[in-house]
Formats: sequence, C-alpha cells, structure tokens
Amino acid sequence: LSRYHTDFHEIEQIGSGNFSRVFKVLKRIDGSLYAVKHGTKQLHQDTERRKALMEVQCLAALGSHENIVGYYSSWFENEHLYIQMELCDYSLSINKSTQLFMEEEVLQALYQIAKALRFIHEKGIVHLDVKPDNIYVKNGIYKLGDFGCATLLDRSLPIEEGDARYMPHEILNEKYDHLDKVDIFSLGVTVYELIKGSPLPESGTQCLNLKGGKLPLLPGHSLQFQNLLKGMMDPDPVRRPSAKDLVENSIFDKVLRNSRT
Ligand code: ATP
Ligand code: MG
Ligand code: MG
Repeated sequence: LSRYHTDFHEIEQIGSGNFSRVFKVLKRIDGSLYAVKHGTKQLHQDTERRKALMEVQCLAALGSHENIVGYYSSWFENEHLYIQMELCDYSLSINKSTQLFMEEEVLQALYQIAKALRFIHEKGIVHLDVKPDNIYVKNGIYKLGDFGCATLLDRSLPIEEGDARYMPHEILNEKYDHLDKVDIFSLGVTVYELIKGSPLPESGTQCLNLKGGKLPLLPGHSLQFQNLLKGMMDPDPVRRPSAKDLVENSIFDKVLRNSRT
C-alpha cells in the first residue's frame, strides 16, 4: 500500500530536478494543498540513503522560519524518498522570468534570504546550493528551498556542492574551512543575476571576473549596493560579510523600515 496515494490526491507535476519530481497534491485528511518531492533515484545503498536523508534531517533540525520553505514530513516508499512541504507560488528561475529586479525589490529578496541564511548558519547548517531556482515566492514572501545539498558545518560526510556557476573559487579548490561563506558568495551571484535578468555564462570571463572579485559596474545602482555585492563575492571568504552582518547592514533601513524583525 502506498502512503503517498493513501494520504494524498495528486493534482499535477509542478517541477523536476536532476533526481526528483515535484507534485502539487491535496492532502485528503486536512483538505490542504502541499508540494511533495519524489526522489527518482532508487536508494539501495546505505551511503546513498544517508546522503538523501541529509536533506530532511537538516529541514527537521531547522524548524520553521518565514523565509524557509516549510517542511512537514518525509518517508521511504519502494526505496524512494518522499518529502512533503509547503506549496509555493513559483521560484525565481532566471530563464523563465525575464522580469528584471529593481534595486528596491532585489533588496527585499536579499534581506529575506539573508535572514534565512542567518537562521540556518546559527544552527550550524549550510545550504550550499543558493541560486535563483532555489528561491521560492509565496504570497509575496521570499523563501529559501531545496536543501538537497545542505549539510552540517562540522560534518562527517564529504560535501556535495551545488551548481558550479554559483560556487566560489575556494570550493573549486576543495577548501572547506568557511562553508557558511559559500552561501554568501552564491547569494551574491544570485542577486547579480536577478538584476541582470539573465544567467551568468557557465564558465565565461564574466563569471571568472566575479570569482576574482572584479565585479563589473552595475549602472543605475547605488555605490553602497555595489560595494555590498562586491563584498559578498570577495575572493577571500573571511572578508565576505556573514549572514548576520548582511541582515544588520544599514542598506536595508530605507526599504524595510516597517518590516524589520
Ligand atoms: P535541482 O537538481 O535543481 O537541485 P531538485 O531535484 O533538488 O532540483 P527541487 O529544486 O527541490 O529539486 O525542485 C524541483 C522543482 O520543483 C523546482 O525548481 C520548482 O519548480 C518545483 N518545486 C520544488 N519545491 C516546490 C515547492 N515547495 N513549491 C512549489 N514548487 C516547488
Ligand atoms: Mg533545485
Ligand atoms: Mg536540489
């Protein structure tokens, strides 16, 4: 008997990843909509299972936060992992929405995701796959999702880094001393893409320039904003601001005067 089919009515597929498909479902007993992610890979081996379980173990350890996609439960079915989570409206996939972000809107997204990162880093968890695809929006609130690469700061497992385009050079060089700062770098690249409205080239010079800390100027943006972004993509992880530094930056004062918490 399938727990999935017993408990949920499948409405439609809403997304897919490398090793997963995500469905919009109705939970029969409470009449509410959720997203359920099915792993498509069969997890025979113990190491595979342990890696897959990191995602739900991190989500469960974190507890709920307004700026993190909500987690409800998880289970195994025929060697596949199922994850029941909060259904969001859409994600900030760059290819889909060529919608450009103005500075005020991007500051909202940056502030909210920085709060999510401050929360997870305080609990000793790093995301390692921050990118537009993995930032969701629900009722106008930005939420960090897809903890498929997340791990503990003092982990025993080797890391499984996310999308290489968002990784700083120290990860490419296998230096793992400041994994929290990997998330800060990735968020910097994410914000940069949201402003440009187009993905950075996979391994183009623009991306290499970013990784070398030589951020091309962004016309029409304040110097304070450009310096903040540049700091987030500093080649030296130690010099990048922490998530807490970000949240406390005075750049957010003007746009968030009423919503700062
Ligand atoms: P990737 O290989 O990109 O990391 P993944 O296999 O880890 O993908 P997710 O990123 O978690 O899978 O989800 C795949 C897609 O499903 C997302 O890009 C999004 O379109 C959709 N999706 C995932 N979770 C949700 C959710 N909670 N609400 C709405 N849509 C979702
Ligand atoms: Mg994803
Ligand atoms: Mg993923």
